[in-house]
Amino acid sequence: MTPAPEDRFWSKVIKGPRPDDCWLWGAAVSDDGYGRFTLNADGRTQAVRPHRFAFHLVHGVPMESFGALMHRCDVPICVRVTAGTDTHLDPGTNRENMADRLVKGRDANGSMFRWRGFSRALFADRSRLLRDEVRVHGWDREERIRALISGADPEAPTLF
Ligand SMILES: [Zn+2]
Repeated sequence: MTPAPEDRFWSKVIKGPRPDDCWLWGAAVSDDGYGRFTLNADGRTQAVRPHRFAFHLVHGVPMESFGALMHRCDVPICVRVTAGTDTHLDPGTNRENMADRLVKGRDANGSMFRWRGFSRALFADRSRLLRDEVRVHGWDREERIRALISGADPEAPTLF
């Protein structure tokens, strides 16, 4: 028997050990740096974004019924959607997304916002590095994961 899409989906998600940690997508990552999850239904395959699929699952709403989702954590492969205040994804309009990006871009204290300056290629690259790390090691090498999440390159000499 094929597992239900929900089960198949959550089996690819690796949750961090701390209560507020990201839940990272450990499977396919598209060239835009966001994850990709393939649904098979009625002989059709459909690729969806994992963070959107998570929102659909957790809130029980159709995927077409909500607009853009904002990542509070700025980690494109994070799929942490909860019904509570500890969610990492909020629905927002495109305009809100842009405003949010501008505000956070000016916040020099947030190391995570380094992701925002990345080119598309680098963005995808970093997502895949992070994905590879959690897929192979889970959160065992936590320091490395936190460096990747903050936008640092763990292979590069320390900058801070
Ligand atoms: Zn997150």
